[in-house]
Amino acid sequence: MRVGEAALRFELATASRILFGAGVVREVVPAAKQMGRRPLLVVGHSPHRAAFLAEEFKTAGIGCVTWATRGEPSVTLVREGVELARSAQCDLVIAFGGGSAIDAGKAVAALLTNGGDPTDYLEVIGKGQPLENASVPFIAVPTTAGTGSEVTRNAVLASAEHRVKVSLRSPLMLARLAVVDPELTLELPPAATASTGLDALTQLIEPYVSSRANPLTDGFCREGLHRVSRSLRRAYQSGSDRAAREFMSLASLLGGLALANAGLGVVHGFAAPIGGMFDAPHGAVCAALLPHGMAINIRAVRARAPEGETLRRYETVARLLTGKPDALAEDGVEWVRQLCRDFQIPPLRSYGIEDKDVPTLVEKASQASSTKGNPISLTMDELQEVLTLAL
Ligand SMILES: [Zn+2]
Repeated sequence: MRVGEAALRFELATASRILFGAGVVREVVPAAKQMGRRPLLVVGHSPHRAAFLAEEFKTAGIGCVTWATRGEPSVTLVREGVELARSAQCDLVIAFGGGSAIDAGKAVAALLTNGGDPTDYLEVIGKGQPLENASVPFIAVPTTAGTGSEVTRNAVLASAEHRVKVSLRSPLMLARLAVVDPELTLELPPAATASTGLDALTQLIEPYVSSRANPLTDGFCREGLHRVSRSLRRAYQSGSDRAAREFMSLASLLGGLALANAGLGVVHGFAAPIGGMFDAPHGAVCAALLPHGMAINIRAVRARAPEGETLRRYETVARLLTGKPDALAEDGVEWVRQLCRDFQIPPLRSYGIEDKDVPTLVEKASQASSTKGNPISLTMDELQEVLTLAL
């Protein structure tokens, strides 16, 4: 596209306030005091890590209710959280954890003011009604560097009954405050650093080449890709490297800002149905699919839209990742492939996905909301190729 060819039109929405930096977690309790009287503290796998927050609330004379969630959020789990928050009269939700805890908290915060059941508002499997009321004030405190969920407007929930993952989605769900403290990620083990970091990488590449990209999200993506290229290996090899952790926390935040406003692509289009049907961590699934999704997209663009902007964008991705000013689109794919090899990212087969599951997953991915952002419309054969290569 040349200057003057088309008029720009875009929207950008994010958390009302973002606090970033080492030690900013100390701001959570003072900020929460301004927002409500009885917080629900949603925590993930390691509730003890959030114990200091409960202690700080106690010192401030505020009784907070701690809710320890297990694993990725589901419709049933969110119902439990809403019930607990209602009975304890919570008027504020703070989520401290990875993407799962943050999504669970985000969903509970929305249902507290909108009433009804999660399924009333869920896409695909539910009634898909729009949320009408703003959530109770919601503070998101990520302890991993990957999902960017602290600044997204959706909560991904699993439905065991339907074997899918679907979103509760509304701009009304955006956090009142996102507190991104890289120090909280220092203890993340190498495997989780790799899978969440590769999710962050995917969430910077897909919005950058997305059909819905805009100049603001472009800037977030380029900055984030530059940071990932310089820090993900270091964070994996040496978890206590504070500078690397800071870069990855920032990259994750930038990815969240980008995906919430520019959408995603075919990798996340597959990650949603795979996550619903199989017990597989989201980041590792994205990582297994990413090089193949990129390669097939680039091949399709070379064949069907070589003059468009997408190829140039994949070249920019390659140059940012490799640091080589003359890198070609395919060099970016190779960089990602090598990273996945070095991180020992397992193929999708290791989660129990078999050849017989391919047609169903391809069908579901072709309908997934993320796939709509893919830069080029892939044929069913091409979609199948992406998945088969990742098996
Ligand atoms: Zn993701």
